[in-house]
Amino acid sequence: MCDIIWCKIEKEGKPCNTVNYLDPYCFWNWEGKVNCAECGTVYYIHMIQGHMYQGPDEKPGEKPDTSPLYADKPLEGYRNYRPGTEGRTRPYECLPRAAYIGEPDMVKFSVRGRPVRGFRPQPPSAGRAGSHGFKWDIQKLSPEVWEEYQEKLNKGEVKDF
Ligand SMILES: [Zn+2]
Repeated sequence: MCDIIWCKIEKEGKPCNTVNYLDPYCFWNWEGKVNCAECGTVYYIHMIQGHMYQGPDEKPGEKPDTSPLYADKPLEGYRNYRPGTEGRTRPYECLPRAAYIGEPDMVKFSVRGRPVRGFRPQPPSAGRAGSHGFKWDIQKLSPEVWEEYQEKLNKGEVKDF
């Protein structure tokens, strides 16, 4: 964590006493407004290299730019707000960026032109575990791979070395 905002705002005669955690990924070099997960008080902060350069200053009536990652209430038996609690903590989608969601390449033949056993999907007749560990009857189980293999053999595209 870069830092925390321990909210002490009095609400209904009691201090809020919520610890809002500012995680480094989002707040390392950051200036803006962040809300308290419990009472919604908006604080202005300016962080430089993970240090609180200015703030937290209360900004009543303003809208937050973002929310803390996580918040808890250590004086109340660690009652907490998990990441992704709507309206309190920041959405946590846990997804890689679109660039990293790829489609696997299905490889049927090795560089030497021979069928590879890793090719899937193999047909359901592979049995319970779906694996042809020691025997893969290509002709029967993957006729289309077998045909392609025959074509490759005829064209002389299959090599031993
Ligand atoms: Zn608060």
